[in-house]
Amino acid sequence: EQVYGAPVVGEHGRWLGVVIVMHDISEIVRLEQIRKDFVANVSHELRTPITSIKGFSETLLDGAFKDEQMLLSFLTIIHDESNRIEVLVHDLLELSKIERHGFTLDIMPTKLQDILVRVVDLTSAQLESKHMQFDVDIEQDAVILGDVNRLMQIFTNLINNAIAYSKEETTVKLRISTNNDYGIFEVKDEGLGIEKAEISRIFERFYRVDRARSRNSGGTGLGLSIVKHLIEAHQGKIQVTSEVGKGTSMKVYLPLKK
Ligand code: ADP
Repeated sequence: EQVYGAPVVGEHGRWLGVVIVMHDISEIVRLEQIRKDFVANVSHELRTPITSIKGFSETLLDGAFKDEQMLLSFLTIIHDESNRIEVLVHDLLELSKIERHGFTLDIMPTKLQDILVRVVDLTSAQLESKHMQFDVDIEQDAVILGDVNRLMQIFTNLINNAIAYSKEETTVKLRISTNNDYGIFEVKDEGLGIEKAEISRIFERFYRVDRARSRNSGGTGLGLSIVKHLIEAHQGKIQVTSEVGKGTSMKVYLPLKK
């Protein structure tokens, strides 16, 4: 808190009193800290792949290019690391677009099962590469008011996470159901699980439970913050339950079209 005081002096220098202005700046300080952390995080996330691209290209230029095997392996690393930067910049732009004032959805009546069918198609290659399977259960027709592309983004993100944080040959359950007010989409994996204390943090920008694993799975740490924003823009909510070593369930609630 900042406090300013000033004397109030009347005619002939008569002392009338003091004006005190109190200004609560704790919120401003907090936001400023979040902004600083964000910039530091972005810089760090960019520096890692850039350092690697620079190092490997310099080694190649110093003569390693003459060894065909080294050439191939270093170029592959350079290519993968450039991809990482591309994904990161894409996610950052996406987040900034979603967080901007005036961000709007293209809302129309949408069947959750149609979204799910499309996303299952798009994510099946990743699933098969880990010899995993989907178990799809459309319990109830659910028509909600939503933005098709944004819903696909939400579903894709959650399903990709379920695959990324699971062992090979496990199953990812995908369920669509309803209650009185909401269409519900649940993704349930048999993966690593998340500690209780971490659950509330995974929606923070750049937060990862295990940085190294997230990096290997191609994650930027921004996926769930984007998901949360998009769900809230739909007047929906997300609920996470998890048990370490057993798996995680993420339930998305989206208002039904009445
Ligand atoms: P990332 O790009 O790292 O996947 P996200 O924002 O999508 O970033 O997720 C944040 C973190 O939450 C992940 O790094 C991971 O530690 C954890 N997480 C997300 N989904 C799951 C899941 N299904 N099982 C276990 N951990 C998860």
